Amino acid sequence: MGIVKLIIIVLLVWTGFWLLKKIKKPANHLDQESSVNKMLACSVCKVHVPENEAIIQNNKVYCSKEHLE
Ligand SMILES: [Zn+2]
Repeated sequence: MGIVKLIIIVLLVWTGFWLLKKIKKPANHLDQESSVNKMLACSVCKVHVPENEAIIQNNKVYCSKEHLE
């Protein structure tokens, strides 16, 4: 009985680590992608802003709502 319990615990721990590795890998990949974010130049003031912060409308890039209007 003792050995069976031990094997089950080892299997559970191993499966846990395996799952953690599987979950962590794509997350790290996403972090790397967002840290090397593309910089886009505002079509009004030419200031460079990260793609996720830029406002894109009609294929033009704006750094802020003020330049959008
Ligand atoms: Zn601007």
